[in-house]
Amino acid sequence: MSQDWGAGLRLGVVGHPVEHSRSPRIHELFAKQFGLPLEYPLFDVLPADFAAFVKHREEAHQSGMNVTLPHKQAAHALCEVLTDRAWQAGAVNTLWWEGHVLHGDNTDGIGLVRDLTLHQGVELKGKRIMVVGAGGACRGILGPLLNAGVSSIIISNRSTDRARALAEVFAEEGELGWCGLEQAHQHSVDLLINATSCGHRGSFPELSGDLVGADTVCYDLSYGPAALPFLDWATKNGARMAVDGLGMLVEQAAESFHTWTGLKPDTKAVLGTLREESLRP
Ligand code: NDP
Repeated sequence: MSQDWGAGLRLGVVGHPVEHSRSPRIHELFAKQFGLPLEYPLFDVLPADFAAFVKHREEAHQSGMNVTLPHKQAAHALCEVLTDRAWQAGAVNTLWWEGHVLHGDNTDGIGLVRDLTLHQGVELKGKRIMVVGAGGACRGILGPLLNAGVSSIIISNRSTDRARALAEVFAEEGELGWCGLEQAHQHSVDLLINATSCGHRGSFPELSGDLVGADTVCYDLSYGPAALPFLDWATKNGARMAVDGLGMLVEQAAESFHTWTGLKPDTKAVLGTLREESLRP
């Protein structure tokens, strides 16, 4: 959807709550790399007002928009055209208009795959994965992980019916299984992904430490303080690596930016800046 952005990019992120979002800073750093003027405000919008808000942004000549919780499913329902991965994920985090037609993509899964392979040096081909959690984020990453050539994915969730339902949705796409949290350690995995929201309440999923071996890579989709409980648990249990989801956040943003502008930002530089800024008092 690239075009002449000389007049500036009118972007932004809509969510509720949204004030914690690091997307404005990330897109500011991307736009700076290309000398593009950028508007990227935070829009705090209640679920009941979401559809009217999107219509209003189209009338205000918005270039595109990121969507975060709790609106990703509502955005999916509003779009007239979806990318394959957005359709599969059942959720949209990137919106744009072509004429008056609303398009949607989901860049979360490709963001995770790129962080693992480009920034963390983790080979995914042939690897056995366990995703803990069966919410929206899990659904968004399953397709891109399978496309990256992993050998199997087990979805482990507190509510086992949700894990089973997701495994059934993706059953034809690859080797998928499911289990409860108590059975998770019966599986042997190379990459353990925490896709629960526990960290936002200062905890981590109740898993046996036996799940972690000296070769296991542990990855938490959350970042900042929310990632610490799981990453500390992983480190204490001897994981080879314990990584948070900041790189995923930057990579999913870069994919959105590319959709809107046709430009590929230097994500390594941006990730370095964010890590440095998060260390500052
Ligand atoms: P959802 O609310 O859709 O799902 C939450 C999941 O966490 C459910 O599977 C739920 O289990 C599980 N859960 C919650 N509390 C507990 C608990 N105490 N013990 C065990 N399991 C629990 O959230 P999302 O899927 O949207 O998000 C998950 C995480 O991913 C969040 O931390 C979010 O910040 C992060 N994320 C990061 C991104 C990035 O770019 N880095 C992008 C998108 C998400 P149950 O089904 O039993 O309720």
